[in-house]
Amino acid sequence: MLDPVVLKKRLATASEEYLKYAPTIARMPGVGEKYSIGESGNEYIVDLDRQTCTCSDNDHRGDISPCKHLIVIWIYKYFKIRLEEETECN
Ligand SMILES: [Zn+2]
Repeated sequence: MLDPVVLKKRLATASEEYLKYAPTIARMPGVGEKYSIGESGNEYIVDLDRQTCTCSDNDHRGDISPCKHLIVIWIYKYFKIRLEEETECN
């Protein structure tokens, strides 16, 4: 079950670390919506269809709150969609 306290903490962490992670995000080829995030050696795969991440945090406490990588990808997608919409309007 989601824990609002943990979720709040992770949202804050993800917002703080968004700028650090954003340049490392890459959409992976193939079926489904998967992104790699992080630097090589510390790289994780976020699966948006399944809402999973390969990091240990998500493994252990993914049922309490999505991990920061997953949240960073949500933010990334939100901005990407907004930017595309604005580009289309202009
Ligand atoms: Zn993660």
